[in-house]
Amino acid sequence: MAIIQRLDEHLTNMIAAGEVVERPMGVVKELVENAIDAKATSITIRIEQGGIDSIEVSDNGIGMDSADALLAFERHTTSKIATQSDLFALHSLGFRGEALPSIASVSKTTLTTSDGQEATFVQIDNGMRINVHPHSCPQGTTIRVENLFRKTPARLKHLKTPQYEGSLIMDLIEKFALCYPSVAFKLVSDEKTVVESSGNGQRIDTVARILSNNIARYAREFAFQDYDFTVEGALILPSQSRSNPKGIYIFVNQRLVRSWQIQKAIQEAYRPYLFPDRYPMIVLSITMDNSLVDVNVHPSKWEIRLSKEQQLYYLIVDQLSAYLRSHMAPPEVAKVQSEERMIQTPLFDVDHLESYPTTIDVPTMVFETPSSILETKEEEPKIDPNPSSFPHLEVLAQLHGRYILAYSSDGLYVIDQHAAKERVNYEKFQHLLLHEDSSKQLLTVPILIETKASVKARFEEMESLFKQIGIEIEPMSGNSLLVRSLPLWLNDIDEAAFLHDLVDSFDAQRTITLERVRQDALASLACHASIRFNQALTMSEMNHIVSELSRCEQPFNCPHGRPTFIKISTQQLLKEFGR
Ligand code: ADP
Ligand code: MG
Repeated sequence: MAIIQRLDEHLTNMIAAGEVVERPMGVVKELVENAIDAKATSITIRIEQGGIDSIEVSDNGIGMDSADALLAFERHTTSKIATQSDLFALHSLGFRGEALPSIASVSKTTLTTSDGQEATFVQIDNGMRINVHPHSCPQGTTIRVENLFRKTPARLKHLKTPQYEGSLIMDLIEKFALCYPSVAFKLVSDEKTVVESSGNGQRIDTVARILSNNIARYAREFAFQDYDFTVEGALILPSQSRSNPKGIYIFVNQRLVRSWQIQKAIQEAYRPYLFPDRYPMIVLSITMDNSLVDVNVHPSKWEIRLSKEQQLYYLIVDQLSAYLRSHMAPPEVAKVQSEERMIQTPLFDVDHLESYPTTIDVPTMVFETPSSILETKEEEPKIDPNPSSFPHLEVLAQLHGRYILAYSSDGLYVIDQHAAKERVNYEKFQHLLLHEDSSKQLLTVPILIETKASVKARFEEMESLFKQIGIEIEPMSGNSLLVRSLPLWLNDIDEAAFLHDLVDSFDAQRTITLERVRQDALASLACHASIRFNQALTMSEMNHIVSELSRCEQPFNCPHGRPTFIKISTQQLLKEFGR
């Protein structure tokens, strides 16, 4: 007896719905993608109870005629591809023709649409067409989805709180807004506007509206390309970072995607400026020939498969690094508040300096980047390996065992001695790691490092990499390693702590390069060798630090992206005192 049966269309739609629209966020994603495909320049999304009660997406796009308005709900009907070759040269976000029938099979869906000629109303209740008639509405499309999953309790049960479901939708619309600066997005949640972009096409303006005005102050536009890829967007300078990768927005051919490889490339470029547990913020949009990217990996279309992934990886690492290097500049204290407020809160109040956070993010100050290196969009990044702009400084005194006070002809300087020393050490070790012949010193007492079986299993890989930076290891019984020799220049440092750091970061990577080992060694060295924050310094020690800092390639920031000094210009002092 044959036991295989063909599923009816309704059941097929419901199963597909499970993949395409698992939760309200998935519904919103599909509807917004359709609006973008319909060339809308303004898209408004209204949700109630995190989308669980209702979702409504309105656009001012091309709309549909009445025949298409009905066809749109048939399975595998799409206006976007017709032949197999279209699938490999996609210019639209949708192409599967599954979203609308799937959504309509698990909700009550109402469509009103007009192509400028005729307007149509279609209502479908859990896959059953219940109402179709001519209608009157302006050009564009509105789709309203109510009672999502009400007839599929198993799915409904999987939804979390309205707050959580709503936050996913908020996240999603923020991403869309950042990706499409020329489309005006508005998300209204329970009658409250929670996300809104202007659609004026300006990336930095979109960053200001979506991420915050403060973050936009640190945003710089960038663009670069090679034969296959064009990469552009807005990067946020490393002084603003996050504890998770959610501030990394990646788009491929105008599509929101998740790509671990691209994220890794971005992190690699930011690494010299960020603590290991911090993540950068960036909006990065990549355009490539559609034949190089496969989006048909999963129905939700979040995943992509790229050809030439390695090439893209190195393009991003190299070019983004160059941009970051050229944009790390001396911070200057500038006023952002009214004159009146300034008088109440002196800009430079020595008595209260101690209570200020070390990032110097006090409300009356903002760091400005000199206008000369701003807005390098569409140009090759300018790289100034040894900025001549480092001022000639005379040291005055030490403040609170933390800061070096100095002056030059153009103003007063407050140097963070720890950050300065970190920068100096970082560049010193960088030089040694890259250029020193790896003459080794045999340790009189070898150092024993306990590690994990997973590390030990990669002993040979580790041995050959470490050897290239002058560290010789031997396998010992169990999971131990024995370090017999270290580079000659590696003195004045807690050797065991350094080696543990290095082994740890080796363990954290599945594949590791010599360059990466060098970088990790550097970060660890710079950190372990720097002077403590609270340490009295003599005049000559301070002079020494300042002169070493002045010879650095990037003297303006420590390796974690924080400023090494701030400046209060002579002009500003005059103004503060009312001259
Ligand atoms: P796909 O987007 O994969 O083509 P959908 O089920 O999402 O499949 O949509 C089916 C069709 O309905 C689309 O191909 C398009 O022609 C039409 N459509 C859907 N939404 C809109 C809209 N907002 N404006 C104009 N046409 C739309
Ligand atoms: Mg679609």
